[in-house]
This record gives sequence, C-alpha cells and structure tokens, in this order.
Amino acid sequence: MTSPLLLQMTAPLREDFDIPYHDLGPTGDPPRAALVAGIHGNELNGVFVLSRLASFLADIAKGSQPGQRLLKRVVIIPAVNVLGINLRSRVWPFDKTDINRMFPGYDAGETTQRIAWAVLEATRAAYYRIDVHSSNTEFEELPQVRLYEPSEQERENAILFGLPAVIERAMNTVFTSTIGHAWRWNEGENFVIQAGQAGDLQLHHCERLFFSLIAFLQRTGILETTSLSEEEEDCQYFSLNQTFPVISQNAGLFVSRLEVGRWVRSGELIGFLYDAFHGHIRAEIKAPVPGLISGIRRQPLLCEGDLVARIQTRHALEGQVDTSLHSHGQ
Ligand SMILES: [Zn+2]
Repeated sequence: MTSPLLLQMTAPLREDFDIPYHDLGPTGDPPRAALVAGIHGNELNGVFVLSRLASFLADIAKGSQPGQRLLKRVVIIPAVNVLGINLRSRVWPFDKTDINRMFPGYDAGETTQRIAWAVLEATRAAYYRIDVHSSNTEFEELPQVRLYEPSEQERENAILFGLPAVIERAMNTVFTSTIGHAWRWNEGENFVIQAGQAGDLQLHHCERLFFSLIAFLQRTGILETTSLSEEEEDCQYFSLNQTFPVISQNAGLFVSRLEVGRWVRSGELIGFLYDAFHGHIRAEIKAPVPGLISGIRRQPLLCEGDLVARIQTRHALEGQVDTSLHSHGQ
C-alpha cells in the first residue's frame, strides 16, 4: 500500500525526497484528529509512537480487529523533518532552519516554509490537533500535555490523555511561529505533548505515550477499542505559577539518580555536583520546593545558571516565575 504524500521535494544532487503521511478511517469529512511528530528530526519518541499508532489504527480500519472500529478520520504525520531524522538533526539539515519557527509557512517559499505550509494545510481542518515533541538531547521530560492560554474545552480534554501531568504555560511571546500558534487561528483544540529526551528512544515513555493517544482517541469517540488497560491513572493538573525551575548556582559534573515523575519533599536531594578533576562533591542540589519532578537534566556538564530540573508544585508559587526562559525542545 502506498501512503499519500504531503510534499514532494527535489534536490540538486540526490534523489527526490517526500513527506508521506497517513490518512485513516472514514473519508469525506475533515479529519477529527491530526497528529504530528518529528518536526524536530532528533525527537524520536514521537516519531516511533506515531508510526506505531498509524500501524495500529490502519489495522483496525481494515477491519482485521473484530470488535474494534475507527469511527472518524485521523491524519498522522509521524515524521515532518524527514531529512533531519536521517542525520539525527533537530533542524532541517540543508539550511539549519527550525521547522517549528517557520509556521504558518508559505507555499511558494523556501523548502522549510513549504514544509510548514503543507503540514498546516493537512492538519488545520482537524478538530483535535496534537503536536508531539521530546525535549532536547540534554533534558528529559516526563510525558506531559502542555497548554498555552487554553480554552475551557482544552483544559477539560487535556485530562483525557491520562498522562501524569497537564501543565499550563503562558503563551510564548518570542516563538510565535510554531505550529501550535498557527493552529490557534482555526476552530478546534490544540495540544502539545512533551515526552522524554531527544536523540534516542526511551521505551517506557513511548509505551505511556502510545496508550495515552489511544485513550484520547477512545474517549473522544474517534476509536472503539479493547486495548486500553484498566489501570488507575494518576493525572495531575498544574496551572500557571505551579512550575518551579531549579537553576544551578555552580558549575560541575551533575549526577542524579532521580527519575522523572517522582514526588520530592522540600530539601530532598536532586543530585550531586562533582568537581570533574578532583572528584569531590562541590554541591548537593536539593529541591527548594516540594512537588512532582516533571523534567530533569541528563547532560552532566553543568554551568552556573543552567536548568537542573523542573518541579510542579501542588499550590501556586508566590510571585511570577518566568518558565519561558527555561523551556526546552519545542
Ligand atoms: Zn521539538
């Protein structure tokens, strides 16, 4: 079976290359859901999970799974940055542009402007729009839904993924050319998902993400399936001012055994900072506030002022904490 193509591109001295996508379920109506991953070519969790999801849904759409049905049309683009994935590159390899800074794009523009345009055209008519990212190669994110100035509907439905955290953020006023921004001009609901770390696959995050997407499709009436586990989900909602970025006061070799998704007490150890030559401990980094570890640094070479971890607090923090300065990966 050949997949439809979003865009066909030619190159001066190599084979042409394409961006394929999946168009599944009943045709005719606009898609009920559109899912996009791999806008950044080294964020492999989303690429893997969306390709697996497409395979799973295609099987159901064919009718080969008795008792399971795909009731609405779903569009899936597992890998937008097709060349970046080959080179493990976040950006588009030829001109080093970040595709998530090119929206809404332009159909007669440069390559990445054309890619952005084509992705937007294929997804804007969907009611539910989901953009999957990992962090960068230095930072690991707990699988989470991110909402930016959400509607009431988005607040309610973000819970349906059953991911461990839904985190509201202020609108980023610096990066206004993301797909998330471009989607906001259309009727419907938008969700950004962050899961894991760029550069390789974290299978436990992938599994969680896969089942969360199936849960969402089932709970929104798109999919009838028997594959959901009955396990109790622990989903926490965090509004603005419930995100605390832990910033390093020292430089050194950062070592931590802490897993994302752990709740920590105030003063609990996050990790050690070693002197990379003498081997002694320069500092113990402790949680300044109690809460859920939603992200932690995995690159050990730490400079003063670097983001070490992000803690989601049960209660709103005093004063405005600027989390936009410490965003990763989108
Ligand atoms: Zn990304």
